Amino acid sequence: MKLVHSPQELKSLRKTLKGSVGFVPTMGALHEGHLSLIKRSKLENDHTIVSIFVNPTQFLPGEDFEKYPRRYEADKKICEIAGVDLLFMPTPQDMYEKDEVGMYAPKIKGYILEGHFRPGHFDGVLQVVNKLLHITNPTRAYFGKKDAQQLYLVQKMVREFFLDTQIVPCDIVRDQDGLALSSRNVYLSQKERQKALLIAKSLKKAAKMVQSGVIDAEEIKKRMYDILEPIKLDYVEIVDREFNQIDQIKIGDTIILVAGYVGSTRLIDNIWI
Ligand code: AMP
Repeated sequence: MKLVHSPQELKSLRKTLKGSVGFVPTMGALHEGHLSLIKRSKLENDHTIVSIFVNPTQFLPGEDFEKYPRRYEADKKICEIAGVDLLFMPTPQDMYEKDEVGMYAPKIKGYILEGHFRPGHFDGVLQVVNKLLHITNPTRAYFGKKDAQQLYLVQKMVREFFLDTQIVPCDIVRDQDGLALSSRNVYLSQKERQKALLIAKSLKKAAKMVQSGVIDAEEIKKRMYDILEPIKLDYVEIVDREFNQIDQIKIGDTIILVAGYVGSTRLIDNIWI
């Protein structure tokens, strides 16, 4: 595995690669969720590039940018063992100039749900993903459904900017107890972890209700709110795959999302119906 810090060097190396290139962008503190994306890229491409970059522009003032877990040595080993060909670990100085040309998330879909509670977050996400896609010019790029709105907005950006990369959505990986894997789970105490499980439990209940024929979004949300009572919620929402709010579940075209705080840790999760 080759470790690269400079965007220019990675661009040059990329040009020498023959065949297909898979790309997995991450913020590191790698877990099985990230690994599932890397494994899929390995299966579907001749070469795999992984990036680890805690992107400052997608954190709002007061968020956890400073304390976000950084596990660079462990991450390098994980990538090496996983068979990653190129590991890209730039610094913010490598990636950004002063007074940058900006990216604007769409005014509606970029400012609902996550974008409502983290205004400007998706500007930063799209800015960095745009840069990373230009540096790596991948055949395919792998994104988790865990960050469903991010996935939707990246797909929208790639389409609108006529980029050649195919965005590949990947299923959510969970711990045995149901908790969706996240780098932020390390913040949770044992007690908080038990509380956090209610999020996955509420989503499972929602899926069960749909299975048993309930399609009314309000009825499902009401039951979810009961389960989620101990959690300080940002939102529970039911949308179609284009992130339009819906009153009735459409099987094959629905995402049910939850975001909230357990202690001071903000968690998001969702289920695709
Ligand atoms: P992050 O490092 O949290 O920015 O995540 C990097 C990529 O991994 C994103 O596309 C995430 O959606 C994806 N990801 C994070 N957690 C999971 C998970 N539990 N299952 C699947 N993909 C995930």
